[in-house]
Amino acid sequence: MRKEYPCIDVNLPKITHNAKQILSLCNKKGIDVVGVTKVFCAESLIVQAILDGGVTHIGDSRIQNLKKMSNLNCRKTLLRISMESEAEEVIRYSDISLNSELDTIKTLAKAAKNLDKKHNIILMVDVGDLREGVLEEDVVAVVKEILKLDSISLIGLGTNVTCYGGVLPDKDNLGKLIRLKNEIKDLCNIELPIISGGNSSSLYMVMDNTMPEGVNQLRVGEGIVLGRETSFGKLIPGCYDDAFILSGEIVEIKNKPTVPKGKIGMDAFGQKPSFEDKGIRKRAIVAIGRQDIKVDGLIPLDNNISIFGASSDHLILDVTDSTKPLRVGDIIDFKMDYGCLLAAMTSFYVKKYYEEELAVASMS
Ligand SMILES: *Cc1c(COP(=O)(O)O)cnc(C)c1O
Repeated sequence: MRKEYPCIDVNLPKITHNAKQILSLCNKKGIDVVGVTKVFCAESLIVQAILDGGVTHIGDSRIQNLKKMSNLNCRKTLLRISMESEAEEVIRYSDISLNSELDTIKTLAKAAKNLDKKHNIILMVDVGDLREGVLEEDVVAVVKEILKLDSISLIGLGTNVTCYGGVLPDKDNLGKLIRLKNEIKDLCNIELPIISGGNSSSLYMVMDNTMPEGVNQLRVGEGIVLGRETSFGKLIPGCYDDAFILSGEIVEIKNKPTVPKGKIGMDAFGQKPSFEDKGIRKRAIVAIGRQDIKVDGLIPLDNNISIFGASSDHLILDVTDSTKPLRVGDIIDFKMDYGCLLAAMTSFYVKKYYEEELAVASMS
């Protein structure tokens, strides 16, 4: 088969393996895993690979993606707090939605009533990261209002940290959810079954046994796709970090200086670039660019190759030290960080290929 470039090779068995591994790690501590599908746009073969690993609950931030998965027999959670304007779709396509605005919850209640359904929600609590969530001191009052809505079932509390403010999850901030759950039990006389303690950044607490008792759900995307917890970037034992490999084709390779000639103004992205003079280097241009990838999230598989930079469609590499003799038409492979994977999977210009065989080149 002649491949089209740039492309991503997705190794499905590695994803199944990672999902199984993380599920088993979490289940041992009484924690359920919501497999998060947004980073790969809920591509159905990858979703299936995660389900094949034993995950029975899927989460995505976009309702279009949940709609795409409506034929799948698993629980579905909408991760981004709902838009009021999509209330009807939220009721139709998600079993559970995360919410933080009483007005939106009331709109969801109306939509659920119209569709003759009961809708489950998890109330998001801001424990310090300053993205979504009700402030702690307001939680009980909001819960009391939610309990008045008979087409809405409040089934839990959740939080999200690290993504915006970089706040690390710990015993104190996740412990707040447990304290609130108990307070709600005493004051409102209801037991909330789900305590959703964050994303892949919380996995390290499962690994080092510091997760507060009572946190019983994590929403895991990066952990499954890239095999890492995201508080410290450590590999999860027994997981693969190379289930996704990006490949691009060399379209120019020449020896050139490292400092441009002429007066330096703004580059194509409005930045004034600066250059370190490394003398004459062998430079390769790969046909991929910032429209498709995040440059600083690319990790060349050949660690003798480094990255000079990129514009919209051109990635410029330093291949002087590459042990392989490279020429025009050769293919360069990369691992990606989360941001780069997100961009590349979303880019219409990057072709996706799916491998069904477990290629055991590098077990992490
Ligand atoms: C994206 C997202 C997740 C998953 O994050 P990862 O770091 O990929 O595990 C979990 N919860 C919410 C609310 C999200 O938006």
